Amino acid sequence: MAHRHDLVVVGMGSGGMVAAEFAAGTLGLQVAVVERGRVGGDCLWTGCVPSKALLASARAAHVMRHADRYGIRPVEPDIDSSMVWKRIRTVQQEIASTDDDPARFSAMGIDVVRGDCRVTGPHSVAVTGADGSRDLEARFILLCTGSRPAIPAIGGLEQAGFLTSESVFELDRAPGSITMIGGGPVAVEMAQAFARLGVRTTVLQKGPRILPRDEPELVEVLTRRLIDDGVDLRLNVETESVAVTAQGKVVAGVENGTASSWTSEQLLVATGRRPNVEGLGLEEVGVDLGPRGVEVDRRMRTNVSSIYAAGDVAGRFLFTHSAGYEAVRAVRDMFFPGKGTVTDFVPWCTFTDPELAHAGAARPRALGPGAGRQRQRRIRRHRDSQEVEGGRRPHPCSRRRGDDPRAGAGDRPAARAERRGRLRPRLPDGVHVHRPAGSRGRLRRRQALPLAGAQGAPPALSPPDASRHHLCGRRA
Ligand SMILES: Cc1cc2nc3c(=O)[nH]c(=O)nc-3n(C[C@H](O)[C@H](O)[C@H](O)COP(=O)(O)OP(=O)(O)OC[C@H]3O[C@@H](n4cnc5c(N)ncnc54)[C@H](O)[C@@H]3O)c2cc1C
Repeated sequence: MAHRHDLVVVGMGSGGMVAAEFAAGTLGLQVAVVERGRVGGDCLWTGCVPSKALLASARAAHVMRHADRYGIRPVEPDIDSSMVWKRIRTVQQEIASTDDDPARFSAMGIDVVRGDCRVTGPHSVAVTGADGSRDLEARFILLCTGSRPAIPAIGGLEQAGFLTSESVFELDRAPGSITMIGGGPVAVEMAQAFARLGVRTTVLQKGPRILPRDEPELVEVLTRRLIDDGVDLRLNVETESVAVTAQGKVVAGVENGTASSWTSEQLLVATGRRPNVEGLGLEEVGVDLGPRGVEVDRRMRTNVSSIYAAGDVAGRFLFTHSAGYEAVRAVRDMFFPGKGTVTDFVPWCTFTDPELAHAGAARPRALGPGAGRQRQRRIRRHRDSQEVEGGRRPHPCSRRRGDDPRAGAGDRPAARAERRGRLRPRLPDGVHVHRPAGSRGRLRRRQALPLAGAQGAPPALSPPDASRHHLCGRRA
């Protein structure tokens, strides 16, 4: 039997949960959600939450080792990594039983359907679950199916076995040594965490520096810190093959033109993401797909006007805060056409120590043609506590200094920048950097606010936070 809803949301991760709560809770719509795995998605189970929990434990170990910076005798921490991994699971369970509890969504009147979802038409989906199959019909469909790790074609890798962000938090304890293949945010955060927990850690990065999308000068600061933490950072590495020997897993490759190899107990592959589009039936329904995922316009709408996509599956920005932002914009656009266009100006942060936040174009882009009258100014380094080192680089930008999206800033820590309002004036409507003290519930309420305000409902949050979205850096 077919069911009629206003909206069917496919995938209950960061984007899906925020969209469903906004549609049902704020707009009072009839909403069904479909989830084939665990409600909470990547952020709760394999992304932000466990990685930040791991980083928090690693930071505690680091502070103990360097307690003399605070006038306290330092000690070498006695680390039982099984307790660290246990703590990760406890933190996840706490969120799974509160904010991300499916019962919370059911209580809002949302029809929570478990199973694998396939789009069967512009207004219909079929769900196959343990309890059989079910068809759902809706005015609109929102795809929030996320992404998964992309695995590079390296000879011997599959046979050797490796970890990804999907399996590393499932371990019982840390390995004795680990080699990370990749030098993006996932590898870099994990490298610092593992190194600080006493794991011999090597990072193999293809290019000349880690975090290629971030401001080079700030990346340099972080690079030095990682090396101080004990990370063996190898740049300009072409990995060629993996083999298992009695000593461990051996990655063979070329580093700066010279043949090299790296041996460790475990490997972690973090070389990018692939959108979850397979099996959704999108080709049959005629939804356009591109190299980054489902093709969407500035309203997050696909070429089939009743089908929208948001979050990682749409491949714009792969963050929790952007998934939630895009999903709410998509719902707004469905029911208030034209009210849901998205900005391309989305800040992000790598939650290492020091944190590396990014808003706007990195310097090479900001300096590109048409940048107008350019001005560079160095800002003092923050040295207000011994624990951090960093800098802020206002980018050269045009005369429209205050509101040009190309004006960028890398800052440490993100929360401080936000508190002092440093980034806020630079950002166009809708975006600022913030470390949420609260939960995704708070995020959802914030995102719902502009529309609630438009309808005359009293604002639930302080005005400076209205119409903003946030970096997800739930410190666990
Ligand atoms: C290690 C790591 C650390 C990260 N740290 C941060 C961070 O600190 N800050 C930040 O902002 N971002 C971070 N991210 C990124 C963030 O986790 C993702 O960008 C975000 O979760 C994407 O949300 P989403 O809604 O698009 O997808 P997801 O949250 O992945 O949700 C997709 C959901 O769809 C379901 N699904 C898929 N296909 C189907 C189907 N056919 N039928 C039914 N259900 C389906 C999946 O089971 C899943 O639950 C991190 C990622 C990783 C890997």
